[in-house]
Amino acid sequence: MASGDASSATQSVWNAMRDDSTHEQSASTVEIGGWMIPLDPTESAADYFLLTEDEPCCGGCVPRDPLRCIEVISRDPLELDGGFVRLRGRLIRLIDDPAGWRYQLEAARHVSEPKRASSSAAGMSRRAFLASGAALSLAACAPGRFAGYTDSHEPDPAEPRDSEPEQWQAAAGALTIDMHSHAGHVIVSRNPKLGAHRPFTPVSAPMRAGGMNVICLAIVTDTVVTRVSADRKRFEAWRTPQPGELYQLGQTEFARAHELIEREQLVVVTDAAMLASADPRTPHVIIASEGGDFLEGQLERVDEAYSQHQLRHLQLTHYRVNELGDIQTEAPVHGGLTDFGADVVRRCNALGIVVDVAHGTYDLVKRAASVTTKPLVLSHTALATHPGARSRLITADHARAVAQTGGVIGVWPSSGTFHDLDGMAHGFKRMVEVVGVEHVGLGTDMYGFISPPVFRDYDQLPALGAALLSAGFSQKESEMLLGGNYRRVFEASMG
Ligand SMILES: [Zn+2]
Ligand SMILES: [Zn+2]
Repeated sequence: MASGDASSATQSVWNAMRDDSTHEQSASTVEIGGWMIPLDPTESAADYFLLTEDEPCCGGCVPRDPLRCIEVISRDPLELDGGFVRLRGRLIRLIDDPAGWRYQLEAARHVSEPKRASSSAAGMSRRAFLASGAALSLAACAPGRFAGYTDSHEPDPAEPRDSEPEQWQAAAGALTIDMHSHAGHVIVSRNPKLGAHRPFTPVSAPMRAGGMNVICLAIVTDTVVTRVSADRKRFEAWRTPQPGELYQLGQTEFARAHELIEREQLVVVTDAAMLASADPRTPHVIIASEGGDFLEGQLERVDEAYSQHQLRHLQLTHYRVNELGDIQTEAPVHGGLTDFGADVVRRCNALGIVVDVAHGTYDLVKRAASVTTKPLVLSHTALATHPGARSRLITADHARAVAQTGGVIGVWPSSGTFHDLDGMAHGFKRMVEVVGVEHVGLGTDMYGFISPPVFRDYDQLPALGAALLSAGFSQKESEMLLGGNYRRVFEASMG
């Protein structure tokens, strides 16, 4: 194929991806050119990396638009020189990637030797590539640059927020905390080829870049029995797990969390004193589980997770009606929290584990509120006047049931709910109007969305803080929302 044909073929693939119309070509062999972005900048070659249409603004900057980025799995490790490459492989449309990537190039190989696409690339040696920022972080460049980002790659220069640099940062002594995150790709991939071997992405550097001090790092233990629903709006359980299967998945997920923690040099917070003395320059995590599915109905496994895996935050249910109770996205089976679920709440109270009722039905929340002796958390949601059937949004009464325990409701950045960070800030405001400023927090659900959310990287935290100030919150209130309130609940839960 002549090079002109090849480049027009490449262009048509990127164009089709941008229109999101590539499904017609799914699983077809394509030839495509783009810029390689390593997920592990310390490697000189890799068989797993990202390919972007546009030259990265620095060596490690990943475009947030999933339609301009392809996940590549190559036949053999390819040299990561940070340059332009032309690859041939099978292009697959992903429908359930928790990170939001839409396309994958499988069995990729070089069409020809790597070549430079533009003169500006010629000077980008691997040495320069690493020095330019990839070794620091995939997201360390230009913090806040993508503030207000919705669907386009570049921020709209007409947007006033882009012309206002994000000045927000937490005052000394205040900790910023994300109540719900799967940062680093901690969870096992649904793609069987990656599974538990899915490469991690950086956590520490983006946290440092955005001034995020603590994240509740959540494993998920129903992944193998859930999938994206036919309407592609949510996940659903599609088969009954084998006995022991979800416990085993839990073991794998906890091990992955600890591997990521070790690799990223994160500090695990296990009690209130550690949180009180946390150095804000060092990224911290609270180990969490989204769903008590790994318990498989056995209460002693709460103790085991507490002592062996440092679990300190347990969300009772997720996308499967499990042994603990009913979920918002399926018809109720148990009438809310089960007796086992109530026992788990009591055990968490006794041990010192934060109880999170996200994904649970209003009936589940009401019984959990009546059982718990500690404040509840509902880590990621938003308010709706009339949530639709199977919606993850909550009513004002549902929110009040959590707040009345002294708890906190996390506002999430779903793009189905908010268009941008200003919209999200107004989501905080609505929630505060219902339950008060002491009862609202941030739950990013990082890498947990089907569609890319409006807050997708910790370097957006200053922009979110600035949006909260613009929405009328004081500096002090913004610090309560972005960490202080969860801190109070954590301290109360540990004591
Ligand atoms: Zn969730
Ligand atoms: Zn999640």
